[in-house]
Amino acid sequence: MSDLLIRNLRPMANDACDMLIENGRIARIAPGIDAPGVAIEDGAGAIAIPGLAETHTHLDKTMWDMPWYDGRKGGTLQDLVDNERHSRIPLGIDVHRQAMRHAIRLIRTGTTHIRSHVDVDTDHRLSLLEGKMRARDALAGAVDMQIVAFPQSGLMVRPGTAELLDEALSAGADVVGGLDPSSFDRDPKASLDTTFALAVKHGKPIDIHLHEPGELGAFTMEMIMDRTETEGLQGRVGISHAFCLGMPDQARVAGLIDRLARLDMRIFTTGAPSATCPSLLALRAAGVKVGIGCDGIRDTWGPWGQPDMLDRARIVGMKNKLRRDEELVALLDTATTGGAAAIGIADHTLEVGAPADLTLVAGETLAHAVVETAPRPLVVKAGRVVARSGEFCVEGVSMP
Ligand SMILES: [Zn+2]
Repeated sequence: MSDLLIRNLRPMANDACDMLIENGRIARIAPGIDAPGVAIEDGAGAIAIPGLAETHTHLDKTMWDMPWYDGRKGGTLQDLVDNERHSRIPLGIDVHRQAMRHAIRLIRTGTTHIRSHVDVDTDHRLSLLEGKMRARDALAGAVDMQIVAFPQSGLMVRPGTAELLDEALSAGADVVGGLDPSSFDRDPKASLDTTFALAVKHGKPIDIHLHEPGELGAFTMEMIMDRTETEGLQGRVGISHAFCLGMPDQARVAGLIDRLARLDMRIFTTGAPSATCPSLLALRAAGVKVGIGCDGIRDTWGPWGQPDMLDRARIVGMKNKLRRDEELVALLDTATTGGAAAIGIADHTLEVGAPADLTLVAGETLAHAVVETAPRPLVVKAGRVVARSGEFCVEGVSMP
């Protein structure tokens, strides 16, 4: 929590002014603020936006800055899952080190909030969670990190995993994860019974990966919605990917979206180029809270992706065929305020009184800022400068 005066910045691309931050919160926004004794940064006329919200990633998976990996597999989801589970130890993927490398790069590109899934399986048990929690502790104050206990290798198909998820939630995981209850777990009723029982027991929200396409995905989504309603978990359940919402039957999709909105459920999309994806604008128009995320980057699954939420916003924008300025502004909101709301951060704005979590960005307008690739001039977390000109600058913490 810090005091800071940022001179000459343009909040949300409005007129240039100064911003005074006191005790980690935005205290005043006005031209010519005088604050004797307070540290000063020069915004140089750049646009200020709320910090970027990475709402779907896997910090335990990246091989960034490790030797190039040439063993990636094609094939089924099961092939990709098994290849990763068998490769982690031989490849020397140290989760603490890799999560630090990934998260610090997100911070220096303007991210102030991260929701990251972490694999919990009967081979690695809670070891990956422990590595990620150490990274969360090391970066406390520089980024807020939510950890999802994620049964990447399956829940019902891998006995013992439910007990490990229970332990993970007791040990410090924030969210209950899930994976394709029908197509991967082969038993959606048992899978969802277990997932929802864990959420109720621990009082924690749910975030389920749902890759299932078309009518199968719609069927599973309806089962998730049924349980959300009967358990009274409105506002506490999210679905990641939701590829089924990209199916051609628009009337079917509209019905699902309408019910998602009524149950205040959250959708997290990565704009996956290889799959059908939900329409960002249709979800937002219906009032569904939506976040975007990079998913895994440069891991055993795939070589693609950058640890930069504006890079991901561009991918989501292209996937959604966004073109007009007001659409790009909606996309930027989804990457900041809207996405943060989807993971339960309600006051992520540049209003007076809000936490001073923000980034400066290049560009003339908000729409222009989405498509620019220049380094972020300044990133501020709770009033503390955490990155400057694209370089991470938190005292006592270095890139491993
Ligand atoms: Zn994922």
